[in-house]
Amino acid sequence: MRTSSLPSPVRVLVVEDDDTIGRHLETGLRGNGYAPTWSRTGRSALAEATHTAYDVLLLDLGLPDVDGLDVARMLRARFPEQLIVILTARTDDIDIVVGLDAGADDYLVKPFSMTVLLARLRAHLRRRSVAPPAQEPIRLGDLLLDIPARRCSARDVEVELRPKEFELLAVLAQHVGEAVSRETLMADVWDENWFGSTKTLDVTMAGLRRRLADASAATGATALPLITTLRGHGYRLEPPPAP
Ligand code: CA
Repeated sequence: MRTSSLPSPVRVLVVEDDDTIGRHLETGLRGNGYAPTWSRTGRSALAEATHTAYDVLLLDLGLPDVDGLDVARMLRARFPEQLIVILTARTDDIDIVVGLDAGADDYLVKPFSMTVLLARLRAHLRRRSVAPPAQEPIRLGDLLLDIPARRCSARDVEVELRPKEFELLAVLAQHVGEAVSRETLMADVWDENWFGSTKTLDVTMAGLRRRLADASAATGATALPLITTLRGHGYRLEPPPAP
């Protein structure tokens, strides 16, 4: 018998042995109102999912101990209602077919975009009459970012951002104080695999920084987040200084 408590945030079991992807999923999900738990092995995931009722299982296929497909099969057999989404780097159609046959409800091919993952989760949860978490506006000093409404304001004055500038800021704001790699930004904002060219990212980043500086000048807002460039890695949104 699995324990569950109500009311509670939507529980997600992330089964992923890769540190970078696991951490990205954990912080991204938490930043969007989910309650993630991270398992790094198939065995610990089986124990965890047997003990606790999770609303969703995000399951990597390439695990160090048990094959992700076997984890899916075992859990599907025991808990027919369990929502399972496979995360796979295997792009062969056959793997996806086998994954769905093993009992997965859906799959995402790595590298996937957090935006797409969240959209799929919301759709699956609604279908199962589980209310997806409400996305609260993010306050960063004088800056307020309302992601569902696609609004950004500084001291209550709207900051006009281009669509990709907004999405870039949204991804960084969901990982405030953390390094976010160029690969992650390319996947999250442009839904693209990263093959070396990041000119688009650089241009968009320059635009975003300019708009934040302009907003600061226009509104007198001084407590705005700064974006630090991490050479050879990516960017980090610094929490604004205390007012
Ligand atoms: Ca893996």
